[in-house]
Amino acid sequence: MRPNQRLRSIAPIVIAMVGFVATSCATAPVVTVAAGVPVDGNSFVVRNVRVFDGHRAMEGVDVVVKDGRIDMVGHVTPPTDLPVIDGADFTLIPGLIEAHGHVEAQRELRDALRFGVTTELDMLSRINFTAPQKSRRTQMERTDLADLWTAGSPVTSPRGLGTQFGIPFSTISKPDEAVALVKGRIAEGSDYIKVMYEPGAPLFTTISYETMAAVVAAAHAQGVLVVAHISSVEGARGAVRAGVDELAHVFSDTLVDDAFAREIAAHRTFVCATLSIFGGFQGKNFGAALVADARLSPYLSAAQRAELVKVGPGPKHPMAPYLVRFDVDRAIENVRRLRVAGVRILAGTDAANLTSHGVSMHGEIELLTRAGLTPAEALEAATLAPAEAFHLDDRGRIAVGARADLVLVDGNPLVDITATRAIVRIFKNGFEVSRAVPAVAAAPVK
Ligand SMILES: [Zn+2]
Repeated sequence: MRPNQRLRSIAPIVIAMVGFVATSCATAPVVTVAAGVPVDGNSFVVRNVRVFDGHRAMEGVDVVVKDGRIDMVGHVTPPTDLPVIDGADFTLIPGLIEAHGHVEAQRELRDALRFGVTTELDMLSRINFTAPQKSRRTQMERTDLADLWTAGSPVTSPRGLGTQFGIPFSTISKPDEAVALVKGRIAEGSDYIKVMYEPGAPLFTTISYETMAAVVAAAHAQGVLVVAHISSVEGARGAVRAGVDELAHVFSDTLVDDAFAREIAAHRTFVCATLSIFGGFQGKNFGAALVADARLSPYLSAAQRAELVKVGPGPKHPMAPYLVRFDVDRAIENVRRLRVAGVRILAGTDAANLTSHGVSMHGEIELLTRAGLTPAEALEAATLAPAEAFHLDDRGRIAVGARADLVLVDGNPLVDITATRAIVRIFKNGFEVSRAVPAVAAAPVK
């Protein structure tokens, strides 16, 4: 069985329904946490709030968090000994999951969490940095860092895409090297395998279709998913037919036809859109609009501001002959067509690649609605969809038993998707997260 065949499980929804207890609301006096006052501890109630549970919305319900996990959801009788947050006019959504990031420093995990991204799925990094970061994701302690899953080193050919970053890793030349390479990647900490497949691309070599297929088989034999970097329809066709579980970007060298869109859907291959980066590559960086948004700007660090207004590579850049494959208008149209064909879309930003951790997810979610996703579908792409794609069973949803990674926003993102930016409170493992921008460390005095 291919690992993602069980992904369409309805289990999370069943769990949510079990937690939806239809009783009358409590009448006992409650102690309400005043606006702007942080909740103390990791047990509390959000009362009378609109909940988006990862898939659908419920109006005027209560959510009870106990010891960092969701204990009750629905029209319940909450315990009277817990602090209460008045949720009227607010919407509670699962902590966002960045499905395509590159994490190089803890600062980036802090930036992510400050904007409601509680989990990052890294898609190529230095494994000696990312592997030690993974232990927090099974803990329930207070933290100011997003949890991390990592691809670590990519699987690519000698002089293939990814080798230009100067990260030391072994490459692959033929199919019979796949088993040992995959086992080595898993042993050093890769949670999934990232293959770079770029047939016909200028500047870079690529692994062959046969090698990619061998890598997919080797990874699936180990129970590990495979994510493919592609930038062309030809690359996508090969990756889907080789059985990869996810395309790490939508392709945009040409528009997808109905037959191939349906084929991707039939293979149940997820597609991470990463629309934010397509604009950046063409000098149409969406980041400036995020910097200008008063709901986001006060929480940006200086480093994030710089990332968001960075000018993309121009036509004279050494990578320009390759980057011409990235076209934001075609990318948006392809996401539109894939969604119509039934392909499940994930939200990812490629941060911090002309984007910034955390904040750029709010732009990406809006871009997905420009590609025809409903606001609920765009929110699902940033919560439940990546959780199901990557088998993260304790997050990406508001359901009994899930980790209390939550974002409370002012307004209704199901009507105005940019309401995700009007963050009122963020919880990680049930603990409220400070949104204060950390002071930049002073230069050492000599
Ligand atoms: Zn990337």
